[in-house]
Formats: sequence, structure tokens, C-alpha cells
Amino acid sequence: MKYENNNKCCNSNNLTYEEELYAGEVELWQCMKCYKYYHIPIEIRRDFDNREFVPSEEFQKADCNI
Ligand SMILES: [Zn+2]
Repeated sequence: MKYENNNKCCNSNNLTYEEELYAGEVELWQCMKCYKYYHIPIEIRRDFDNREFVPSEEFQKADCNI
């Protein structure tokens, strides 16, 4: 997905989010000045350091250290 971009108005300050296209991979953004559309690749970073425990009776007795 490479685009020629000779239009200087299409910088990130003028692009607005439209919708997610390919779940978690690409978003559709539009330039507010010239109305061109762009595919913006996105990257998901899984933050395991800030994980939150989800209490559940079923797994309450499980111990992953055994
Ligand atoms: Zn533009």
C-alpha cells in the first residue's frame, strides 16, 4: 500500500480518523483540506507488564507456579 503524496496538506495534522479497515492492521483516514483518503497501517503492542488479573471462580485454585 504505497501512495504518491505530492500534496503537502496531507500531513498527520490534517488527517482525521474515518474507520478501521482490516481489524487491528489498517485504518482509513481522510485529509480535512483536500479530502484524499489514506490507509494508515497501525501496530498493536501488547502491554503484558500492565496486565490486570480477571477474577474467576473456575480458575481460582489454579497455580501456574506448580
Ligand atoms: Zn490533503
